[in-house]
Amino acid sequence: MDPVIDYSKTMLKDGLTFGTGGNISRRLSPETYLITPSGQAYESLEDKDLVEMEVGGEKKPGQNPSSEYHLHSLIYEKYSQAQAVVHTHSNYINVLAVLERPLPTMHYLMASAGPDPIQVASYASFGTQDLAREACKAFGRNKAVILSHHGLVAYGANLKEAYDLAKTLEFCAFVYVQASALGPVKNLPKEEMERMVLAFQDYGVRKKLD
Ligand code: 13P
Ligand code: ZN
Repeated sequence: MDPVIDYSKTMLKDGLTFGTGGNISRRLSPETYLITPSGQAYESLEDKDLVEMEVGGEKKPGQNPSSEYHLHSLIYEKYSQAQAVVHTHSNYINVLAVLERPLPTMHYLMASAGPDPIQVASYASFGTQDLAREACKAFGRNKAVILSHHGLVAYGANLKEAYDLAKTLEFCAFVYVQASALGPVKNLPKEEMERMVLAFQDYGVRKKLD
């Protein structure tokens, strides 16, 4: 079974989406990617349901790629380091998405997305080129963006990295929303975030921090 299907099922099981919401893709070559189909239950997905698309290309008659293929395509076009894209509809990210509130750098784990707060892209309808453009305007130095009134999109150097990032940011959004109810949340200094981004680059293989 293709790893795109494995991660789609994991996304559902982990509660990062429900129903047929969200979508996942992985790059096959510099010019092509494989994406989940539109509106199909994750439980019933088989390899034959995945759709091979060209970066910057349109869907062909008879193909049923995710309605968000413009979003995935533009990320692959703009970020050569993106090897996989995960789009979720997770709970606490959506609390921020409807408030149109960025996720500040209040936890060291945020550095897995990059050094800066996770921005909220300007609103655009799902499945549109506008949504893709607005999302890509909002990444900055980060590998994830909150989609206004919608969810999250994250990319990574592989599928595991993109998926883990979407899951980590849902945890961070949970912490932020809960902590905000108790008082003003304190952010980590910019220099510490930059340092943590470097630390994550060789996390697991590194001998010492500095
Ligand atoms: P698809 O089923 O077309 O992938 O759409 C789900 C979604 O999340 C739209 O934003
Ligand atoms: Zn969506």
